[in-house]
Amino acid sequence: MPFCAVPFIHTFIDTKGKNRICCAAKWTPGQYDLQDWEGKDYQKIREAVSSDDKEWLPECNECKRREEAGQEDSYRKINNKLYEQLDRPELNIINGTNFEVPISYDLRMNNLCNLSCRMCGPSSSSQLYKEMIRHPELWPESAHQPPEAYNSMDINRIINEAESMYEIKLLGGEPTVQPETKAIMKRLIDVGNTGLRFNITTNGTNVNTTFYDLLKQFKQVYLQISIDDYGIGHDYIRGPASNFETIWKNIKKIYELDWAGDVNIAIHQTITTFNIFNFWELRQQTNIQYPWCGFCNGIVYYPPIYSPQYLPEKWKDMAAEAAKKAGAYEDEKHIFKLIYQVETNMNYVRELKNYTSIMDFARNQHLKDYFPQFAEVFEGIN
Ligand code: SF4
Repeated sequence: MPFCAVPFIHTFIDTKGKNRICCAAKWTPGQYDLQDWEGKDYQKIREAVSSDDKEWLPECNECKRREEAGQEDSYRKINNKLYEQLDRPELNIINGTNFEVPISYDLRMNNLCNLSCRMCGPSSSSQLYKEMIRHPELWPESAHQPPEAYNSMDINRIINEAESMYEIKLLGGEPTVQPETKAIMKRLIDVGNTGLRFNITTNGTNVNTTFYDLLKQFKQVYLQISIDDYGIGHDYIRGPASNFETIWKNIKKIYELDWAGDVNIAIHQTITTFNIFNFWELRQQTNIQYPWCGFCNGIVYYPPIYSPQYLPEKWKDMAAEAAKKAGAYEDEKHIFKLIYQVETNMNYVRELKNYTSIMDFARNQHLKDYFPQFAEVFEGIN
């Protein structure tokens, strides 16, 4: 497979405190043990991503698909750029580089979150965990997990590496409300490492003063705000506690804070089955209203019921036609390439229909009030 620097420089730690290669790699639980940075499984993966073998590791399918669709933002490519920026430190199979520890961290510290996104799960959202207690039928696979199962990260381990960190990436739960985020920021400030790349993804629901007073002190901040739809559709996808209008105004408030260094603010949009007929409106409105704001989007792969790749071909064609009519097709070509990459799977579509009606009932939200066009075609599925 093509070379990937990730297993040499980067680690991903999930809300169970488990190390994984990166957020894009997928494998079955127990297949690898990556708790030890110098362990046998890590070494095996480092060998595989630097071999001349033409075959990609099956675990790296998401990067493969993105690159085959011509996208420049596969996780592999993003991290290989980071490796270049570091002046290509010498790599070794045993402990990655002569730093001997990861220098780029992607952390999901715990599941503390104030939203309940449909395509997320109790492992990443405490709100979904509460929903699971009330409606175990929605999350049968997590139903027996105690809350501490998703709050097991040893933060001291991370804090101890603060001086050698070149990049840190924090995602949900919601990092702006997690005490661990503040502890990490304070430690980085204390050791004088405010020049690292600080990459954070937030749902933008609040502009928490304590949090932003710390974040503003960093010199290279990359702030991603997750928004899926321009309007109330966002509140359907992200759960009843979401309020699109407030979030939209917060983007400007965050931009106007008194930043000590460079801040790059970008909207990150996730395209699911629901927003397939209008997702491009968000980019168009961002360009009009917030021209200083970056924008990027991608599709959901997992859970597969939410992936637009499996929708009927006719619906994909309808979406492509509508995007052309709205003058948005050129900007969204990469998304259409991805959704046409895979054939329809009606089992997933039917499963989504069934699941959505149970979740709508539990949340007292109704698809037709938020995504009427999608609800209409969805209605016709038996
Ligand atoms: S190729 Fe992609 S999925 Fe595989 S290790 Fe690299 S970044 Fe992760």
